[in-house]
Amino acid sequence: MKTRPRLGQNFLTDVGAATRIVSALGDLSARTVVEIGPGRGAITGPLAAHARHVLAIELDRELAAGLRDKFPADRVTVLEQDILNFDFAAAAAEIPGGGRICVAGNLPYYITSPILLKLAASHAALDHAVLMVQREVADRVVALPGSRDYGLLSVTAQMYGPVERLFTLPPSAFSPPPKVHSTVFRWRFAPRFSELSVEEAGFLRFVRAAFAQKRKTLANNLRGAGIPSAAATLDAVAIPSHARAESLSLESFAQLWRFLYSEDPAAASTTAGSQSNSRSF
Ligand code: SAM
Repeated sequence: MKTRPRLGQNFLTDVGAATRIVSALGDLSARTVVEIGPGRGAITGPLAAHARHVLAIELDRELAAGLRDKFPADRVTVLEQDILNFDFAAAAAEIPGGGRICVAGNLPYYITSPILLKLAASHAALDHAVLMVQREVADRVVALPGSRDYGLLSVTAQMYGPVERLFTLPPSAFSPPPKVHSTVFRWRFAPRFSELSVEEAGFLRFVRAAFAQKRKTLANNLRGAGIPSAAATLDAVAIPSHARAESLSLESFAQLWRFLYSEDPAAASTTAGSQSNSRSF
């Protein structure tokens, strides 16, 4: 069977790693698991052995057909579909007795950002995910304030719930081997917008504006986003005027957003720019 590099096809050959991914999802006996890009079924096999049901979403027609032959339909439903068009809310509504979906996947790396954004947007239908991504992406997802990798992706992911790095695999764990190392992380969906008293869309636009230009200070980026008295605003919430967005915790971003917009959340859409949150990180 030919491999399609265009579809990010690097198949996991390390059987132990597949088992660890499934173990990291916890007790699946009552769970429906959506697997993103099941490929030749390296992770689907152990998932099918532990989960109540698996929905395997595979774009490649030949691979989808192979999976249907390999796994019984009462344990694994194979859908030949683009994961970016998959409706997680509708799938969760089908779970007998209700409940939220678990997600697993060795992601096709060419669409990592859109997939992570899609999961964030589908958070209400999701419980937790265990995902394999390029190591550098995982570094950014789990990064803490003040570290080199902390940025828009870290704040966005962590606003939707706690993230945890699990383990890293070398290229030799895949066939064909990718050019990069891969890291598995867990993401528990528990959004923090209400707790931090910020409005989701406006807050994420604001954070995007705060990180707009890496070399600029936060005050300069905020001025660029149309917030004129940026330095005075930072002073009012005890953030140093020379601070960079990279040094701010989620709580500090929220404090700043509340200071600027809690009286008028709609203003966040005009002042911090009207870019959509659906762009990649
Ligand atoms: N899970 C398998 C494994 O670990 O060996 C395959 C992982 S491979 C990195 C990514 C898989 O995602 C491939 O099977 C590829 O065909 C599939 N894929 C690529 N784009 C997709 C999309 N938009 N929607 C669903 N599956 C996709």
